Amino acid sequence: MQTIEPAATESLDTAADVLLGAERIVVVSHVNPDADAIGSTLGLVQGLRILGKQVVAALSDPIPDYARFLTGADDIASELPSEDVDLIVSADAADIERIGRLYEENRDRFESTPILNIDHHRTNPMFGTVNHVDPRASSTSELMFRVLTALGAPMDPGTATALLFGIFGDTGSFQNGATTPGALITAAHLVELGADNQRVSFQLFECKRFAGARLWGRIVSTIELDAERHSVFGYLSQEMLRAEGAKVDETEGVAEYLRGVQEGTVVVLMKETPEGEMRISMRSRPEVDVSAIATALGGGGHRQAAGCTIPGPYQAAKDVIIETYDRLNPR
Ligand code: AMP
Ligand code: MN
Ligand code: MN
Repeated sequence: MQTIEPAATESLDTAADVLLGAERIVVVSHVNPDADAIGSTLGLVQGLRILGKQVVAALSDPIPDYARFLTGADDIASELPSEDVDLIVSADAADIERIGRLYEENRDRFESTPILNIDHHRTNPMFGTVNHVDPRASSTSELMFRVLTALGAPMDPGTATALLFGIFGDTGSFQNGATTPGALITAAHLVELGADNQRVSFQLFECKRFAGARLWGRIVSTIELDAERHSVFGYLSQEMLRAEGAKVDETEGVAEYLRGVQEGTVVVLMKETPEGEMRISMRSRPEVDVSAIATALGGGGHRQAAGCTIPGPYQAAKDVIIETYDRLNPR
């Protein structure tokens, strides 16, 4: 397992001081934003606004429909503010490239503006000017709760709901390995602050369109078992999306569902992109580390949930994953 040794991770107080010292702030997160990316971004933005800061959220990709109910979701920009800001906060991005288009199109601004990197990926290379990276945290949303608490920022129910949304997402509703005491304690505080836990749970784990439910059926019908490697492979093609009139966001949760297959310890779900590449989502049982496979293929993530993007088509991508798996798990 290749881990990048942290160059430096700064204390909560340092992160809080950097935020206090800035007036105009933009908060960015990673491409294909998940619940933690969205929740941590919106939670921080709202908390800082209550403190009187000029803050905007900007993301490279649109947010999925299931996150639209969150306060502030409609105000997320798709570009950096045209005027200079004092600080860029990167939330939940495992490395700077994960910020995507906003970074690629504004490299000069990322170089000339201080960056506060707040994250919980252990593969984070500490790309910020100041880094507050804690791999033991369940989620970046948990870290944002700590940051806002350190700042003495009052959290209203909308802010609390956004942060709870992120914690629910990264812990898989308090079911996966990220379910730390910190996740549970933070969730308790957020519910006390008025976070709408029923709504969060429904939006993340139950609510689906008819087309989305049918898409799940198509994906589940592709699964193959590699009995030797205890691995379950499945895929999503662009054709399936077209046939059902569904979006790739609607596959959120399929990989977790497949992790329950008794004969497997690893799930490899391959999602064909419009460009014909394969976006790989890997999930594993506690005894297997899939982040090693993802990292070896240019991606990253966590021990039990990791991903990367590799060339397609499906069979070629599957061969690459198997070859990497065998290289890392010599028998
Ligand atoms: P996903 O399967 O897309 O839900 O991603 C699972 C985990 O892997 C998340 O924590 C992501 O942040 C991480 N991840 C996915 N793709 C990449 C990538 N290309 N590079 C780094 N981390 C990734
Ligand atoms: Mn994330
Ligand atoms: Mn996260």
